[in-house]
Amino acid sequence: MDISPLQTRLPAIRKWIDTTVEEHRPAARPLASFGFARLGHYFDAATLKRVSVIEVDVVPKPPLAALGLHQFADFEQLNGAGLTYGDVYFVVKARANDESLHFHELVHTIQWHNLGVDRFILAYALGHLAGGGYENNPLEEIAHTLEGIFTKEPRLFRVEPIVIQHLERVVPALMEAAGL
Ligand SMILES: [Zn+2]
Repeated sequence: MDISPLQTRLPAIRKWIDTTVEEHRPAARPLASFGFARLGHYFDAATLKRVSVIEVDVVPKPPLAALGLHQFADFEQLNGAGLTYGDVYFVVKARANDESLHFHELVHTIQWHNLGVDRFILAYALGHLAGGGYENNPLEEIAHTLEGIFTKEPRLFRVEPIVIQHLERVVPALMEAAGL
């Protein structure tokens, strides 16, 4: 798998993320302002304090096709309810009060936080290609699996150690398969 076109465009993607987040920054809210009751039982206080949330009509996605990254066209065309960039995540207004959606995006903030910007983007992209799309990307699978347990089962668990162990298991293999 040739990942060099993506590596070449990492600075452009980082710049797009920074600009997009800065543009929306005035509308960002602390997660605590939503008043969710359950998240605090699953996430460290530091995780919940670190993030901000921006409500939008459509979640902004980087112009990957315009950057020549056509292998991610399906990702760019997804019309998702949420999307995370570092410690900031976007949610569509219609689902802004859906605690499960916030749970899902919080998993991604942990992944960003632990991998750093470039490694997250590379790992996410490699996972997307290796899994053959959004659903089977290991970085999405873990978020969906944990979100499903949070939504359907009463049992409590701590998210950070599970997500970090998962990253340690899958990311080196993804990088190695791509020759990184
Ligand atoms: Zn996700």
